[in-house]
Amino acid sequence: MEFIGKLIVFSGPSGSGKTSIVKKILEKYPDLLGFSISATTRPKRENETDGKDYYFISKEEFERKIKNNEFIEWEEVYEGIYYGTLKSEVERLHKLNKHVLFDIDVEGGLNIKKMFGNKVLTIFVMPPSLEDLRKRLELRKSESEESLKRRIGKANIEIQKAGQFDVVIVNEDLENAVQKAEEIIFKFIMKCDY
Ligand code: 5GP
Repeated sequence: MEFIGKLIVFSGPSGSGKTSIVKKILEKYPDLLGFSISATTRPKRENETDGKDYYFISKEEFERKIKNNEFIEWEEVYEGIYYGTLKSEVERLHKLNKHVLFDIDVEGGLNIKKMFGNKVLTIFVMPPSLEDLRKRLELRKSESEESLKRRIGKANIEIQKAGQFDVVIVNEDLENAVQKAEEIIFKFIMKCDY
């Protein structure tokens, strides 16, 4: 049977736990699913690896890639900090017969849906509360007070767009959230509407 590569987008506020959910799912199904490694101009965190979590590049290189039309979508997610999905990532993963998982912001997620329609499943990961979100971001210890405020401010705006996603998963318990996401992804992959 011909392989039809699908796109599965995880979005939600920073600190909602979407990255943890994505990582767990990828660990379980490494032959079926692949991670779209975004490019970003933000500094690398201590626990991150270049070329695995992100391609950490300079602003100049990012701007050059915009000019060369190398992105499917890109956003200035925070003031002066760019994030973008590279066309080459989707091509790389589809060549390997893998469906693509994205961990991107709400605007980026909705843009991908607009572009690729029913090839895309959009999942919004909702924190149980804003208080919970603040606690999780504080625990990360990588955020300055300013970055923390910025992320919580953005979370308020993002939560209002949850209704535009195909599915909303409340991440109260990581294992439960992963299980729910898996079920939804499998149903979507098996569905054939071409
Ligand atoms: P962080 O700095 O915490 O890794 O990511 C900040 C936000 O940027 C998160 O919501 C993350 O999902 C989002 N993000 C990561 N990569 C991309 C991307 O390629 N495009 C867009 N639009 N957002 C991204």
